[in-house]
Amino acid sequence: MAVPLLDLKAQHGTIRDQVLAAMMPIIDGQTFILGEPVERLEGLVAKLSNTSHAIGCANGTDAILLALRALDVGRNDAVVTTPFTFFATAGAVHNVGARPVFADIDPDTFNISVEAVDEAVRNTPDAKAVIAVDLFGQMAAIDGLRAILPDGMPIIEDAAQSIGASRKVNGKKVMAGEIADIGTFSFFPSKNLGGYGDGGMVVTQSDELDARLRRLRTHGSVKTYFHEEVGYNSRLDTLQAVVLEAKLPHLESWSAARRRNASVYDNAFADLDGVRTPAIDPRNESIYNQYTLRAERRDELQAFLKKRGIGNSIYYPLPLHMQPCFAYLGYEEGDFPESERASKEVVSLPVYPELTDSQRDEVISSVRAFYGR
Ligand SMILES: *Cc1c(COP(=O)(O)O)cnc(C)c1O
Repeated sequence: MAVPLLDLKAQHGTIRDQVLAAMMPIIDGQTFILGEPVERLEGLVAKLSNTSHAIGCANGTDAILLALRALDVGRNDAVVTTPFTFFATAGAVHNVGARPVFADIDPDTFNISVEAVDEAVRNTPDAKAVIAVDLFGQMAAIDGLRAILPDGMPIIEDAAQSIGASRKVNGKKVMAGEIADIGTFSFFPSKNLGGYGDGGMVVTQSDELDARLRRLRTHGSVKTYFHEEVGYNSRLDTLQAVVLEAKLPHLESWSAARRRNASVYDNAFADLDGVRTPAIDPRNESIYNQYTLRAERRDELQAFLKKRGIGNSIYYPLPLHMQPCFAYLGYEEGDFPESERASKEVVSLPVYPELTDSQRDEVISSVRAFYGR
């Protein structure tokens, strides 16, 4: 039995009628850019994230770009972030003219280490902001970062993989995006809340940042054809907004189904010496955008799974400080040992909500078979 890493057709099958019914009035009305459906979705995402504002944009990469611009990060500024993330996190820093400065990860959660950020900020006089990434579905220690960062240094939370994730902070549940200065989401189809194409959103508690972000997403203009600053064309399509609005009520149950799958895997792999199941910080509730093992003989395991038709992927095979495009930053192999070790050990398995019991059993028996169990 083949098991894909992700099965978007299976999900679409469960919501097809709702999604098509939402799309038809937009198509018949020929109103495709922003508009009331985007405002409705912004309200729903702000509510989910416990934030005062949400601003739709073209994709999750632009969401980071807009966040950096809204915080006046640009030339001659450095931004401290993790080298173990999807490329867009650091790509956006480069594209606003700033310089990424990397800080290593916590080996348990794969999220940026508070101690490493502390050290990087102390050693980087031009550090202007920090981008923490909520990797694989669990929140980074935004509260821990806030406690060690100099007053006024903003935190951007790249929550592209973690919409609806939460964390206990001083006994109170906070949502992904809630306690950073700006949170960013992606609606890329493979995220937990995926559109039918690209989409993104920015959230914030600040009225000033909200106004600036809205201006930046429409060429720096508030009044049409009059421009306060140079911004971008980065709007959320109306069609994506109605698709996402139709999908959003399912997000919680989909994330719960991912957690159930993860917990079955955790138990099924507990006796395997060759693998380490994902460590979720006890304060966190993960939405498991990925279920990521650390595995002995990872490359052999991956080839074995592939031969048996079990979908899997390596997120991420080359840390960002070792990417050819960032050679100019002057980093070397060995600079971020935890990120480098993770990139050699990780493999992500199918955890999507529509995974059937027999598919899940097939994944389990394949991993166990590889380790001779
Ligand atoms: C997907 C992703 C992005 C980029 O989102 P797009 O919508 O694809 O531009 C940024 N950061 C992380 C961590 C992501 O996983």
